[in-house]
Amino acid sequence: MNEKEIIDIENKLMANVFAKKPVVLTRGKGALVWDVNGKEYVDCTGSYGVALLGHSHPKVVEAVHKQAEKLISCHAGFYNDKRAELLQKIVQITPKGLEKAFPSNSGAEAVECAIKLARKFTGKPEIIAMMGGFHGKTMGALSATWDKKYREPFQPLVPEFKHVPPDNLGKVREAITDKTAAILVEPIRGEGGVRIPPNGFLQGLREICDEKSVLLILDEVQTSFGRTGKLFACEHEGVIPDVMCLAKPFAGGLPIGITIAKKNIMSSLKVGEHSSTFSGSPLVCAAACAAIDVILEEKLAERAATLGVYFKAKLEELQNKYKIVKEVRGLGLMIGVELRFDVLNIILKAMDRGVLILDAGKNILRFLPPLVIEKEQIDKAISVLDTVIGEEENERLRSATSN
Ligand SMILES: *Cc1c(COP(=O)(O)O)cnc(C)c1O
Repeated sequence: MNEKEIIDIENKLMANVFAKKPVVLTRGKGALVWDVNGKEYVDCTGSYGVALLGHSHPKVVEAVHKQAEKLISCHAGFYNDKRAELLQKIVQITPKGLEKAFPSNSGAEAVECAIKLARKFTGKPEIIAMMGGFHGKTMGALSATWDKKYREPFQPLVPEFKHVPPDNLGKVREAITDKTAAILVEPIRGEGGVRIPPNGFLQGLREICDEKSVLLILDEVQTSFGRTGKLFACEHEGVIPDVMCLAKPFAGGLPIGITIAKKNIMSSLKVGEHSSTFSGSPLVCAAACAAIDVILEEKLAERAATLGVYFKAKLEELQNKYKIVKEVRGLGLMIGVELRFDVLNIILKAMDRGVLILDAGKNILRFLPPLVIEKEQIDKAISVLDTVIGEEENERLRSATSN
C-alpha cells in the first residue's frame, strides 16, 4: 500500500476521532521515526510519551520475541512467572508503602480501578479532581477529566465528581465533605498544557488528605518512569500517594496500565469486584520487565533531568528571540512552549522539516521525546523551530502592517 491508499483507508474505516497529521509512520529507532516514503523525523512526541526508551528498543524487542515463543496469554486466574516478576519490580521502584497492584491495559483503566478502589475502601462516593486535569476518556475517567469538549456530549457522567480550581490548596480544603473519598490529581497537568503546580502543592495535598482522611490518588500516567527527571514526579516533593496510576511508557510501547496502592487499600477489592481479561498478560509483562530494566540501567531519569535543562535553555533562547513565544515551562523531558496563537501551523511546518511535535491545547507546543534522544537531535529540533517560528512571526508582522 502506498501513502495515499493507507491514509484513505484509515480515514474511511476508522472512527474519525483523532486529529490526524498526513504522515504514515512505518519504522522507528531511538528518537527517530521514518515514514512510508523513507523520510526521517526527530520524534519529539514519543508517541504521546509512550516511546520513553526510544522506538523498538533492542532489549524490549528481544524480551517480546522470547516471550512470544513461550507463552503470550495467561489469564490472571492462573499464575505466571513474568507477571510475578513485573509486580516485584513495580513494588520495588514505586514509593515506599505502595505494595499491591492491579495491572491493566491503559491509562484510563488504571484510573477506573483507582476510582472504584477509592469508593470501595472508604465507602464514600465523591471524587475531587482539578479543573484542567486529564484522566482518560472512559466514562469513569472522563468524569474526572475537565475539558468540556470531551465531557459534554456524553452526559450524564458518573455522579459525585467535582472539579476545583487547580494549584489552590484552600479550594481543595473547602471542597472536601463527609462524602469525599479521594482527591485525584496529576503531578503536572500534561494534556492541560504542561502546567506545573507551585512548589509544595503536592505536599500540601498530602497533609490535607491525612487531616481529613481522604485518599490521595496520583495520576502519573504521563509523568512517570523518568519523564520529569525522577522515576516518579511525586519524588520531587517526597510525597507518597495512597494510590498511583501508571501507564503510557513502561511496557516499552506495548499497551499497559497499572494501579498500585497501599496494601490495606487494594485489599478492599474482593474476588470478582474488579478484573480484566488481559490483566498482567505475559507478553506485555515481559516487555515491561525489560523496559524497567533499561530505564534503571541506562539511568534514563537522570538523563531526562540533564537533557531537559539543555532543551529548556535552548527553547528559552527562542523565547527571547521571538515575541510570539510567550512562555517555556517543564520538568525533565516534559516541556511545554506557550505561543500567543494557535500552534497547528508551526506543528505542520516543523513536520515538513522533519520534526514531530505535539500540542497541548490550542496555543501550546508539547515535547515528550524519548529519553534516549541525543543532543544533536534536540539541536535539530531547535534549529527547525527557530526557522518555522521565525517564518510565522514574520508572516504575522507582515499581515499586521498591511492591515
Ligand atoms: C494519557 C493519559 C491518560 C489516559 O491514558 P489512556 O491510555 O489514553 O487511556 C490518563 N491520565 C493521564 C495523566 C494521561 O496523560
